[in-house]
Amino acid sequence: MIPGSFEYHRPATLDDAVSLLTEYGDEARVLAGGHSLLPMMKLRFAEPAHLVDLNDIDTLKGITEEQGVLHIGAMTTENELIASSLLREKCPLIPEAAELIADPQVRNRGTIGGDIAHGDPSNDHPAVMMALDADLVLRGPAGERVVPADGFYLGTYYTLLEPGEILIGIRVPVPPSGSGASYQKLKRKTGDYATAASAVCLQMEGDICRKINIALTNVGPTALKADEAMQVLAGQNINDSLVGEAVRKAMAICDPAVDLRGDVEYRTHMAGEMTRRAINLALERARGNRS
Ligand SMILES: Cc1cc2nc3c(=O)[nH]c(=O)nc-3n(C[C@H](O)[C@H](O)[C@H](O)COP(=O)(O)OP(=O)(O)OC[C@H]3O[C@@H](n4cnc5c(N)ncnc54)[C@H](O)[C@@H]3O)c2cc1C
Repeated sequence: MIPGSFEYHRPATLDDAVSLLTEYGDEARVLAGGHSLLPMMKLRFAEPAHLVDLNDIDTLKGITEEQGVLHIGAMTTENELIASSLLREKCPLIPEAAELIADPQVRNRGTIGGDIAHGDPSNDHPAVMMALDADLVLRGPAGERVVPADGFYLGTYYTLLEPGEILIGIRVPVPPSGSGASYQKLKRKTGDYATAASAVCLQMEGDICRKINIALTNVGPTALKADEAMQVLAGQNINDSLVGEAVRKAMAICDPAVDLRGDVEYRTHMAGEMTRRAINLALERARGNRS
């Protein structure tokens, strides 16, 4: 339970952080909240020779809105997401999901950037960001690039991040009026990762669902976008029968790992149930019947 030895760096600017990562290459890892990386180092699953701590880089923190897009700094903590009146007003799905993550201690230090960059399929923000059509802003030695959250994950702990690149921020389009969203997470106890969870964002025009995104947590090697389930509901006047069909399509893409949270059948079934609940609550919210 004691990590290997490492050299600790605490740059004050993003440029310095990128330079350090470039200089030390494969031997360096970024340190954000440390709540995923340090446990892995203690178990010796990760043995970086250099840790580049981002906590002094103020430009990576905070939440603003510019022209209908929310800009969230990668080093913004879960508790800051939860406390944000801007997010509560413009995109309540993000604080709603953050409240379901871990426990107060973890939420105090853990960052949204670390949660997304880690590439752990049991983390909650990846599916939420896919459902919100978020973009991720990456900065490396070659400059800045913007990639969609949907497509960022190549496998478990394997993302589009290139060596030396840092996730610096997340851009979330403010959902238009007539939108509704919900994140439904089944967990065994407070502080646990999801047995299964589902994020749904939809947009209504009268009785018709103009657009819907559905993404699942912890039932595959990465967060999963449920494209075929979305196709069942988009353009439709949604009823129980269509929701049932979408739930079956969502369950069909599940391939959960077997662990103490349950076997394949149970977790797949629960992913379906979380999807059903998330669709129904998102619909009620879009119609203004539920907060
Ligand atoms: C008891 C416990 C329960 C938990 N339960 C949940 C849960 O229910 N849901 C959930 O989503 N998470 C959960 N977590 C994980 C927690 O949310 C972590 O904080 C999160 O996974 C990583 O964020 P971090 O800021 O701590 O990143 P770190 O641990 O510092 O970093 C994680 C990884 O991401 C890399 N990284 C970090 N930031 C960046 C960046 N900006 N750019 C590029 N790479 C970066 C690091 O190099 C490292 O490889 C739990 C953790 C614990 C200890």
